[in-house]
Amino acid sequence: MNLSLSNRHKLVMQSEIRNMTLECNRIGGINLAQGVCDTEVPLEVRIAAREAMDNGINTYTHYAGLIELREAIAEKHKRFYGADINPETEIIVSGGSTGAFYCACMALLNPGDEVILFEPYYGYHIQTLVATQAVPVYVRMKLPGWTFSLEDLEAAVTPRTRGIMINTPANPSGKVFSKGELDLVADFAKRHDLFVFTDEIYEHFLYGDHRHIPPALLPDMKERTITISGLSKTFSITGWRIGYCICDSRWSTAIGFFNDLIYVCAPAPLQSGVAKGLREIPMEYYRGLSDMYLKKRDMICEALSRAGLAPNIPDGAYYVLADISNLPGRSSKEKAMYLLQETGVACVPGEAFYHDDAGENLARFCFAKEDDVLVDACKRLEKIKR
Ligand code: PLP
Repeated sequence: MNLSLSNRHKLVMQSEIRNMTLECNRIGGINLAQGVCDTEVPLEVRIAAREAMDNGINTYTHYAGLIELREAIAEKHKRFYGADINPETEIIVSGGSTGAFYCACMALLNPGDEVILFEPYYGYHIQTLVATQAVPVYVRMKLPGWTFSLEDLEAAVTPRTRGIMINTPANPSGKVFSKGELDLVADFAKRHDLFVFTDEIYEHFLYGDHRHIPPALLPDMKERTITISGLSKTFSITGWRIGYCICDSRWSTAIGFFNDLIYVCAPAPLQSGVAKGLREIPMEYYRGLSDMYLKKRDMICEALSRAGLAPNIPDGAYYVLADISNLPGRSSKEKAMYLLQETGVACVPGEAFYHDDAGENLARFCFAKEDDVLVDACKRLEKIKR
């Protein structure tokens, strides 16, 4: 037999997050590796999805999503950020934000086009670029504060650069890009005529005084900005696969074609449930999210400190990158496995977030867990005290 796997498959690696989840399940441990929030799904959303199923909303929707959902997304962006988005032409609902980004890459990037990403990065961003034959180029953010400079960005540009990707609040660093940083990226993108892909899935997970600023709303940025977001995190519905892309109508039709080709549409009754949730859930819910996760953040950061695994306190999202240099092992993977074996707590080795060995002494802990699970995980972590 001469059959073999495609060359493309060699480019796309099994995610380290899934690997650690498998290892964790094998020993029945506590999984702080995967970003699945096991907090409660809002009742309104659940009821509306059930009602939609009972009322026959079970067939294919428009390839860009139910218009009621697109309208609810546009209204929400108006309410929160004052954005003017045309639900008919500027929103594509997809199979999660992951699906939205994949379709955007397929529609907007040619093989060999380079896209600048900030490091530490979210692995799916890289793998999606690679799978669609684009080329990731890295700009390293430096501690403390995960900073970068214009010189860093300029050094990454080549004649093939076609885009730059922002993730704010960021996974895994918890960085929330400041207005100054976003202005810098926006000016840079305009100067080099680049797309700005911006993954804003953690927009409602913000701590302290941090505020979310959508890059699309900066002056003259709407046309070149491809906003990627979704409800997986905000409504704790990672398995529903409802995400979206907001962009200029110049790009949305082609992105929609790929969405149709790959997904046909996102699950119809679940789109309906999310639409109702977006319309009816009050502002307090969103503020409550940040308050609830702030307590969880502080709980895990204190436990990590006590365990001698110094945390880099995140300003947003629900992960913390901690310094695991004190643990035995030659690599972050070995150190993470040691921690799993000793404590039963799974984390993601830092190497999953860097293209080189810069993540060797880091590990990511997800704190989107019910309080009792998190308390248990914290107690176990503290046992490791170094
Ligand atoms: N973007 C980031 C930065 C994430 O961390 C995640 C999930 O962990 C996703 C996207 C996935 O979102 P979705 O469930 O909408 O595909």
